[in-house]
Amino acid sequence: MQFKDLGLSELILKAINEHGYTTPTPIQAQSIPAILNGGDLLAAAQTGTGKTAGFTLPVLQRLLTSPVNQTSRRRQVRGLILTPTRELAAQVHASVQTYGKYTQLKSAVIFGGVGANPQIKSIQAGLDILVATPGRLLDLMGQGAISLQHVEILILDEADRMLDMGFLRDIKKILAALPKQRQNLLFSATFSTEIKALANDLLNSPSLIEV
Ligand code: AMP
Repeated sequence: MQFKDLGLSELILKAINEHGYTTPTPIQAQSIPAILNGGDLLAAAQTGTGKTAGFTLPVLQRLLTSPVNQTSRRRQVRGLILTPTRELAAQVHASVQTYGKYTQLKSAVIFGGVGANPQIKSIQAGLDILVATPGRLLDLMGQGAISLQHVEILILDEADRMLDMGFLRDIKKILAALPKQRQNLLFSATFSTEIKALANDLLNSPSLIEV
């Protein structure tokens, strides 16, 4: 199995190749086709398995091929990735930029603990993919600085850590602001009762992946 067999565009394959990856990891070999199918996904994956590229690559691909169908002047978020910490948000955003460098897709990252103004500017410039921690996202939504009404794909990365950090209420508020029709991807290293309940609420007949 090679990356070129997975249905990714040449624009993405070129970036993967330049980054030095030759073979998809087991989670990537499963998650990329499952996500490209358009259905929901529940993935049990630890850090170090290649899970970040496992969702970043197919999300880029889906947004490349889905038409931008928006009435507003600026491009608004179509792919929303939530992470528990600012470090993970920055790392995931770096992956989005690395793999998306030959596409015209635009991205931004927002997290707490730093000034909001540069983040608001990056959103106002127009974007396709937003990587965010839940608290800062809710904050900017409350200020009217961001609209989520065009989100097509939602990714919860390290969902178990988000719940451990007390983000369940924030996540529910964010979910309530999203369009009902969308693709949902949930990545978690562990499956507590709470994660199972969230997965039940969120996911529609998901594909299941365990590595
Ligand atoms: P992650 O589990 O997403 O944090 O990734 C773990 C590490 O594996 C990161 O350093 C990635 O750069 C690396 N990695 C991810 N996918 C591949 C791949 N297909 N081939 C080689 N290294 C990879």
